[in-house]
Amino acid sequence: MSLSEYLTHAGTELAPLSPSARADVEALAMHVCGLDRAGLVTHGPDTLNPEQLRQLDALVRRRARGEPIAYLTGRREFWSLDLKVTAQTLIPRPETELLVELALARIPAQTPWDVADLGTGSGAVALALARERPACRLIATDVSPAALTVARDNARSHGIVHVTFREGHWLAALAGERFDLLVSNPPYIRDGDPHLDAGDVRFEPGIALRAGTDGLAAIREIATGAQDHLKPGGWLLLEHGYDQAQAVREMFVLAGYHDCASYLDFAGHARIIAGRRAEDG
Ligand code: GLN
Repeated sequence: MSLSEYLTHAGTELAPLSPSARADVEALAMHVCGLDRAGLVTHGPDTLNPEQLRQLDALVRRRARGEPIAYLTGRREFWSLDLKVTAQTLIPRPETELLVELALARIPAQTPWDVADLGTGSGAVALALARERPACRLIATDVSPAALTVARDNARSHGIVHVTFREGHWLAALAGERFDLLVSNPPYIRDGDPHLDAGDVRFEPGIALRAGTDGLAAIREIATGAQDHLKPGGWLLLEHGYDQAQAVREMFVLAGYHDCASYLDFAGHARIIAGRRAEDG
C-alpha cells in the first residue's frame, strides 16, 4: 500500500474516534517513516514496507483507544524545542508558553539571575528559559525521578548545560537557597473534575494534574513556601486553572506578595499570576 493510500484509509477508520483523525495519522506516519511534512507529500506515492505498516497499524490502534499523539510519537514541540515526552511527564501545552514569555519579560538578557522551575516534568519551561537566557543559573526540580530522566535527556539533546536538575517536592530541593525568579506550572485540577476523564488528560500522570478537593493544594504550598526562597524583590510566576484567578490572587495577597498581576491565555481566561517578594527595609 502506498503511503498516501494508507493515510486516506487509516484517516477514514480513525475519523469516528478522533476529531483530528487525518492530522493524527499524518503525525504517526511522519514518526514511523522518519519524514517531515514536506517528505510526507514527496514520499506519498512510495510503498510502505511491512515493518512500517505493522508499526503504523499498532500506533493507529492505540490512538483509536485515545492515547495522546505525543505519547505515541514520544515527542512534543514547546517553544520551538523538540522535546521528548513519556507517560511520566505532562504533555507541554501551548498556553504554558505564556508562562515562559512572562518570565522572560522579567529576566534581564545578560544578567546571571538565579531562576528555578518547580515541577519541571519534561523540562519544557526550564529549557525554554535556558535557551533564551544563557547567562542565568537555572535549577529545575521534580519529585518524579522518571520525569527528571526525561528532562535531563531533553537538556542533553539540546546541548543545554546550564540547568541543574534536582529531585524533590516543590521547594524541598532548594533548602537554604534564594532566587530572583521562581516559576511553576503545578497541578491544579480538582479531584472529581470531569476534565480528568476526557481526551489526552486520561493518559497523563495524575501527579502532574490533580491538586486536592479545591485544585489549589500545590499552588497553596508553593505560594506560602516560596517567600523563603526568593531574594527581596524576587518574582513568583505560576500557571493556574481557568477559574482560579481570584482565589490564587487572594492567596498571593495574603502571603504578602506585591505587584500581583494576572495574565490572560489565548482563550481569554486569566491563567498566569505573577507577584514579588517585598524589597527589604
Ligand atoms: N492545563 C492542563 C489541563 O487542564 C492541566 C495542566 C496542569 O494541571 N498544570 O489539561
